[in-house]
Amino acid sequence: MTKIQVLPPEEARKIAAGEVIDRPAALVREFMDNAIDAGCSLVEVSIEGGGIIRTEVSDDGEGMAKEDLELCWLTHATSKIRSLDDLKIAETLGFRGEALAAASAVSHLEILTSQNGREAWKLDVGPGEKSPPLLEQSLRSRGTSVRALGLFDTIPARKRFLKREGSEAASCKAIFNDKAMAFPSLGFRFMQDGTLKTFLSPASSLKERFSQIVISGNEASFLHEIAASGTGFSAVIVVGGPEIFRNDKRQQYIFANGRRIQDYSLTQALEYGVQGWFPNGTHPVGAVFVDIDPALADFNIHPAKREVRFAAPGSIHHAITSALRDFCHHRNLSTAPTDEN
Ligand code: ADP
Ligand code: MG
Repeated sequence: MTKIQVLPPEEARKIAAGEVIDRPAALVREFMDNAIDAGCSLVEVSIEGGGIIRTEVSDDGEGMAKEDLELCWLTHATSKIRSLDDLKIAETLGFRGEALAAASAVSHLEILTSQNGREAWKLDVGPGEKSPPLLEQSLRSRGTSVRALGLFDTIPARKRFLKREGSEAASCKAIFNDKAMAFPSLGFRFMQDGTLKTFLSPASSLKERFSQIVISGNEASFLHEIAASGTGFSAVIVVGGPEIFRNDKRQQYIFANGRRIQDYSLTQALEYGVQGWFPNGTHPVGAVFVDIDPALADFNIHPAKREVRFAAPGSIHHAITSALRDFCHHRNLSTAPTDEN
């Protein structure tokens, strides 16, 4: 007998799926991305048991045709790109066609969708589905609900690594906040174990949405919104003044094209830009939202898209630092008690 065995496709699928969906928060991220890509105006996230028992995201977006619903859960099934070249122009949050496939490999998936707000179709699938799943006719208002039940119930080796419900729920909420922060014009709701925890009505600016999520009470009046731009990109910086300094960098957020990313250089740009304005050893609260031509950034280097490779990272860093420095400079001039000599 040979030592090497080719894994049965279902086992291989479960292993690959674990890279995309490693915990309930990943379901929240992927389903919210899909809702936003579907052009919705309201996203509702509802979790039960830290999202392990149930994670559900409903939207009022464009919905899916019956034929698309039949395909959407298959590996590499996507309506968003046709080839790798399309990544250079893709404006959507999703493009790999992996999320629903992964979710259906590691949980039981129910999708209910309607394009016209009357007739709807419901798909029930996985985990470990061999024959094509059946569709049932149903009713729903326009949009889609995606529900994942019993995450990792069939994969005990992975289920063991989930944290307690409370901490999985906190991760789901953090992802919810990140998404909501980047899309201020949309409304968002978060339900936990049947209780409405958060309702964010549509906001008129990134600054207003930031204050709904991060800032408490009267601190909002110390927030500023500053624009920056360069070749192929623009950015909005939301930053709190020294009146609301922090002792750590925990309330600093970087986004690129609607995705929260980890980017050391841009976090540093936020700090450099306000140097001299803040007491030594303190840090600003703030967020940088970069909007970049997809041809100048590669989002395809991390399964969760948490990292981005920019074609010209230096120019973004520079634009942000200078915009902040200009802002601080003008502010100091206008608030200086006496003139400069
Ligand atoms: P991707 O987002 O990378 O295309 P997914 O596996 O997340 O891949 O979704 C597969 C396809 O299913 C999407 O391309 C889209 O056509 C459809 N879809 C998924 N969720 C929704 C939704 N909430 N509303 C409308 N269509 C959806
Ligand atoms: Mg997707």
